[in-house]
Amino acid sequence: MSEQKPFGFTTTILHNDRRKAIEHGSLHKPVHTSVAFGYDDARQLASVFQGKEPGFRYGRQGNPTVAALEDKITRMEDGVSSICFGTGMGAIGAIFQALLRAGDHVVSSAFLFGNTNSLWQTVAGQGVGVAFVDATDVANVAAALTPATRLVFVETIANPRTQVADLARIGALCRERGILFVVDNTMTTPYLFRPKTVGAGLVVNALTKSIAGHGIALGGSLTDTGAYDWTLYPHIAANYQRAAPAQWGMAQLRAKGLRDFGASLGPEAAHHIAVGAETLALRMERSCANALAVARMLEADPRVAAVHYPGLASHPQHALAADLFRAFGSLFSFELHDGIDCFDYLNRLQLGISASNLGDTRTLVIPVAHTIFFEMGAERRASMGIAESLIRVSVGIEDTDDLLTDFAGALAPL
Ligand SMILES: *Cc1c(COP(=O)(O)O)cnc(C)c1O
Repeated sequence: MSEQKPFGFTTTILHNDRRKAIEHGSLHKPVHTSVAFGYDDARQLASVFQGKEPGFRYGRQGNPTVAALEDKITRMEDGVSSICFGTGMGAIGAIFQALLRAGDHVVSSAFLFGNTNSLWQTVAGQGVGVAFVDATDVANVAAALTPATRLVFVETIANPRTQVADLARIGALCRERGILFVVDNTMTTPYLFRPKTVGAGLVVNALTKSIAGHGIALGGSLTDTGAYDWTLYPHIAANYQRAAPAQWGMAQLRAKGLRDFGASLGPEAAHHIAVGAETLALRMERSCANALAVARMLEADPRVAAVHYPGLASHPQHALAADLFRAFGSLFSFELHDGIDCFDYLNRLQLGISASNLGDTRTLVIPVAHTIFFEMGAERRASMGIAESLIRVSVGIEDTDDLLTDFAGALAPL
């Protein structure tokens, strides 16, 4: 197909597989379940192993179905290349395994997905210094940098309290200092925001969430946007410096994250994710509109103590979010007034399902302090702004009126 005039987001995803020949004119890249890939000429196998020509060798390092998904994610993020992993945490873990060594230092947003927070604690126990900062203000990031800082890690909209990182200014700071800027784009997805536009060198997406969308497959990805100059990175092994410098980082991430640590995505999951991704833009439009409607309704109700959603004018980073993102996301969290027990409220919901996932087509709710943020303890929860009654809502694509009725109706005492 012609590359002259760039297609829109959804057209690009729908037609991406067909940019390369597919057997039998199949409209979807088939699910290739073979673990090994055979060559008639053994010399060709050797040159694939040596990276002299493209090709697949063993399923842990790459697979045609997964490669087709990687290509779509690269186009969604307008990047240079992507690597898929078995989960979002696999993708984030690969950054640590491939790029950090004892003595290195990381500056991370303090407002993080709970398991990423836990991963940074693990990393800290292995000799990497981690500074947690309030990343809604670039000054806090600047103050935490040391000569050993290798990367700055933030989420676009933090899960679950929805703080918005000072993305453009942190990106400019990192560029000025030659530091790798890593952005977890899960909450916004490349449809609402492209971290490349603020200078992020690596983008994380938990594909499990909105990109796959239907809650039927786990997956994660890293995308190299091309914004970071890998010749500045001190730990790229000579082995991975054979290709052009633009490929150094991903060569090392693929070898360490997939080949050595084995966090690979399977072809069946890749297929589910690719099919889900076709409707990402449509689902995001609907779920973001639903989230705004329900958040506004709850904020206006005297039985609700606080609603945290960047789409509300009361949100501290509302203007920042309006500047950066196409819409304000499908997730909000809220606190009930003391008289209403959060468990009783959740049990009164008919549609909102008490479950631990987000970015599903169905609306999911969870009492944060008692579940996903339980392990870290009350003190750290308080430092992250997590109230004990906080309810996280991942808004689905149900009909808006049904959600409004459900969330308002549950406020009434039994
Ligand atoms: C869920 C999530 C992850 C991890 O993804 P998994 O596929 O569950 O491992 C990482 N970051 C954010 C912001 C998430 O919401």
